[in-house]
Amino acid sequence: MFFKSKEAMRILLLLTFGITSCTPSEVTRADEAFSGDSAYVYVEKQLASGPRYPGAPGRPAFQEWLEHELTQLGWVVVQQSFEYKGAALVNFIASHPHNEGTAPIILAAHYDTRRFADRDAWHEDQAVPGANDGASGVAILLELARVFTEYSPSHDLVLVFFDGEDQGRIEEWDWAVGSQYYVDHLTLDPSAVVIVDMVGDHDLNLPYERSSDPDLVASIWATGQELGFEQFMYEPGPSLIDDHIPFIQKGIPAIDIIDFTYPQWHTTADQLDKVSAESLGVVGKTLERWLIEFASEDRTTR
Ligand SMILES: [Zn+2]
Repeated sequence: MFFKSKEAMRILLLLTFGITSCTPSEVTRADEAFSGDSAYVYVEKQLASGPRYPGAPGRPAFQEWLEHELTQLGWVVVQQSFEYKGAALVNFIASHPHNEGTAPIILAAHYDTRRFADRDAWHEDQAVPGANDGASGVAILLELARVFTEYSPSHDLVLVFFDGEDQGRIEEWDWAVGSQYYVDHLTLDPSAVVIVDMVGDHDLNLPYERSSDPDLVASIWATGQELGFEQFMYEPGPSLIDDHIPFIQKGIPAIDIIDFTYPQWHTTADQLDKVSAESLGVVGKTLERWLIEFASEDRTTR
């Protein structure tokens, strides 16, 4: 349906970005290590705690596990606790001691899962397991945390795990509550913000989200296509409310990498078997490469 334009755009992107934006030594580095299989295990481990919505029984165990995983990898974790409509919410912010600058790249995902599966025809009063909607993004961040412990990406990377993204319209909650709080209290001056959400679908297709920063879209999509990942389709997808919006509203370049075509979205069928290690690998390897290349550019001009 989009073959002709996609192929043409792929070639254009390769010519525009692939050759001019990075030196050969950066492109051919052989030690990239993001593993889709490892990321998949991170999804599996999150699901073992059950749903992760505010107040969920398994949520404290999940939060403890998340902090433990990051700490064990050498990351320093700060909990940003706050209250929203009487509920205790907490964002987890992780940085690595080898990061020293002041204009980091923020890579973020929401870890909360939706309290009610309100798009489920039969179980709308049950919670969403959140294998793709929640766990897939967190898994990408954790696997990148592992990779960038093994070698320095030579730039500043901050990983943020947002709470309160996915309870919109339940008991009059807003969407993206955790990211809004984070942005309202931001002390960093990030050069770019990358959100990953719902990126584990077996049938992964990534048209770009329309509110996302166009330069970041072009740069990341070109990287994905350089790696041969045609899932990065350089064509407009939906316009969504997600954790990138509070950053954009504050004038910070932000992007939402999301495959919104997911039949199990906000249903009880959003389970482990709907997630693909290969798809996680497509997104994770692209971000790994992009983070290395982006860091090598002169970010003072951004
Ligand atoms: Zn959701």
